[in-house]
Amino acid sequence: MIVADVLILGCGWAGITTAYYVAKKGISNIACIDVNNTLGGLMKTVNENDFVFDIGGSHIIFSPNKHTLEELLSLLNGNIVKHRRKVFHTIHLSNFLLNSLSIR
Ligand SMILES: Cc1cc2nc3c(=O)[nH]c(=O)nc-3n(C[C@H](O)[C@H](O)[C@H](O)COP(=O)(O)OP(=O)(O)OC[C@H]3O[C@@H](n4cnc5c(N)ncnc54)[C@H](O)[C@@H]3O)c2cc1C
Repeated sequence: MIVADVLILGCGWAGITTAYYVAKKGISNIACIDVNNTLGGLMKTVNENDFVFDIGGSHIIFSPNKHTLEELLSLLNGNIVKHRRKVFHTIHLSNFLLNSLSIR
């Protein structure tokens, strides 16, 4: 039986982030339960025969919200790679993802 003050179902990005912010509020007895035996959901990385695969592709960190972006980057402790990107949509060249960041 699990005894916890806060129970979170699903340990993907949303669940782990929720646990992080609940812990920041001073609640330490948190249980994050996942139907799988590994954490991360779509953002997890798996090892198969010495090959490493990102389940959800190589993740780009982008937010139009400056505070959200700074908070995300601070949690990664510099574990990022910077890329300059341009995306074509319809006939216009978009700078939407310019200066976006990827998790290493
Ligand atoms: C190919 C691809 C590329 C992407 N690229 C980016 C990107 O560049 N940038 C970006 O910001 N986002 C990107 N995303 C989106 C991002 O991966 C998802 O939005 C994010 O991971 C979703 O997190 P989540 O916690 O909401 O859901 P999930 O990651 O799906 O996590 C849900 C968790 O709940 C668990 N679960 C499900 N049912 C139950 C149950 N009944 N009981 C207990 N546990 C349960 C699952 O096992 C899973 O671990 C990409 C996604 C894909 C597929």
